[in-house]
Amino acid sequence: MGTKPREERTRPKQKTPTFLLELPLVVEPGQAARLRAHLEAGRQFYNAVLSSGQRRLRQMRADPAWQAARAIPRTHPQERRAAFSALRERYGFSEYAFHDLAKELRVSWLADHLDAVLAQTLATRAYRALNRICVGKARRVRFKSRGRGLSSLENKRNDTGLRFVLDTPAQGHRGWLIWHDDQLPALIDWDDPVVKHGLAHPVKYARLVRRPASSARAQGADREGERYVVQLALAGAPLQKPKHAVGSDTVGLDLGPASIAIVPRQAEARLEPLCAELRPDGRAIRRLQRRMERQRRAANPEHYDEKGRPRKRGKGAPRWKQSQGYQATRRRKAARERRLAAHRKSLHGQLVHQIVAVGHTIITEKLTYIGWQKRYGRSVGLRAPGMLIAHMRRTVASTGGTLREVPTRSTKLSQFCHGCGEVVPKPLSQRWHQCPCGIGPVQRDLYSAFLAAYLDPAADLTPSCAQYVVPWEGAEARLRAAHERVKERAKEGQVLPRSMGIPRARARLPQSRSEATQELLFLSRRGKVEAWKRRPEPPVLVPRESSEPLERSPDEQH
Ligand SMILES: [Zn+2]
Repeated sequence: MGTKPREERTRPKQKTPTFLLELPLVVEPGQAARLRAHLEAGRQFYNAVLSSGQRRLRQMRADPAWQAARAIPRTHPQERRAAFSALRERYGFSEYAFHDLAKELRVSWLADHLDAVLAQTLATRAYRALNRICVGKARRVRFKSRGRGLSSLENKRNDTGLRFVLDTPAQGHRGWLIWHDDQLPALIDWDDPVVKHGLAHPVKYARLVRRPASSARAQGADREGERYVVQLALAGAPLQKPKHAVGSDTVGLDLGPASIAIVPRQAEARLEPLCAELRPDGRAIRRLQRRMERQRRAANPEHYDEKGRPRKRGKGAPRWKQSQGYQATRRRKAARERRLAAHRKSLHGQLVHQIVAVGHTIITEKLTYIGWQKRYGRSVGLRAPGMLIAHMRRTVASTGGTLREVPTRSTKLSQFCHGCGEVVPKPLSQRWHQCPCGIGPVQRDLYSAFLAAYLDPAADLTPSCAQYVVPWEGAEARLRAAHERVKERAKEGQVLPRSMGIPRARARLPQSRSEATQELLFLSRRGKVEAWKRRPEPPVLVPRESSEPLERSPDEQH
């Protein structure tokens, strides 16, 4: 299929460190229309590659040889790998085969919009999406709909096609993204040290990103309410701001779905709620979600039965209608979600820098994201602990430290007791580690972060009692102090996840509804007894919002 000999194509490229710099673009209406057309071509091309690729994947998996390859035991990795790669070769399911596919599919009008290299990067993207299904990491791929479109396109080099060009200082020091005949000026703030540092490095490739703004009137947005930015992949290391010092301690972390315990070997230990500031944003989004649900029901009564349950959708069922109000709410919700994501990212960044400022060797147990997502879906979705770890990995790597993620299965830090060496699983409701051998009581997350801090990742990963005897003498008081501080904060009224082991912390929150209230007990839908406060008049239940402190919070959905 290909023209180049395989050896030449499979030669591995040298990997050098890369960092990203994002610059806003100034796009005129005519240019925006052309960009939209290019991106639409990109979208259709991507869907075409994805569709053909999906066919190849289905055929490959339907082949009896696929089952035979799967039956090869994992104790024979080489045989297994050989069997799978023979199959991939036969059905053309590889990145290179997809590049050849891209060559076939980039015909006629598409070729006017997409140059060959951009088509290749889109093919790679489609291949990666499908490969996730192939290796069992995903169930399905998502085709890009016309409404959502393709939001980014990238090149792999900066000399042809989509590319970024920077003037010399003498010429005015301006930068442009060039694509086809359009030159889109980038807004460069030369006084910003991050921008200045970034642009001093060679550009590997540029990525054009289209982002929806909150409305067409938002700053920098075009008529369709979209903003364009260029992301530059630069060779080198990102700027290390002087305010972000790097410590030399070793830090043990225990990350929960709603909390994080940070125990360094020397410095102060901390137990913190994870991204507590996101709670109001999360609540606002849920309100909008409920509103969308009401609007959807009002506009589509035929899709629900007399009891209000959604009807099964058969073929030829009527289309779902979207009212103007629904679309407006959806836009508002999308804008909220974007703001929340940005807020979360900045909170993650702050926390990572606080941790790295204490120590550059970080040890933590490897997260089991999938299990967490099943169990604490809403909390994990809001706080994104996996993204926090990824952020930490990048930061630690760029500062020359190490992040060790030890496998939970071998260490079992949340079950281990260093006093007697027993491994006893704790139920979720048990927030404390207290052992008959005399260790504890100590908050469980702080305790496992302590165990992580003194693990020796170079040696054996199973914790032994002997290695903790000396550290424990100094650490016990620090861990207790960390928990005392949490208690203080609960008294001051901060909302804390229940896992932190402060009973009824939420119920103790001050709720100044001056009048004398009586408590009313009743069974909630989940079958739990909950106490609601009610004013004598009017004789209705307090609406959801004002009964907040007694409601089950998302982070406690066990
Ligand atoms: Zn014990």
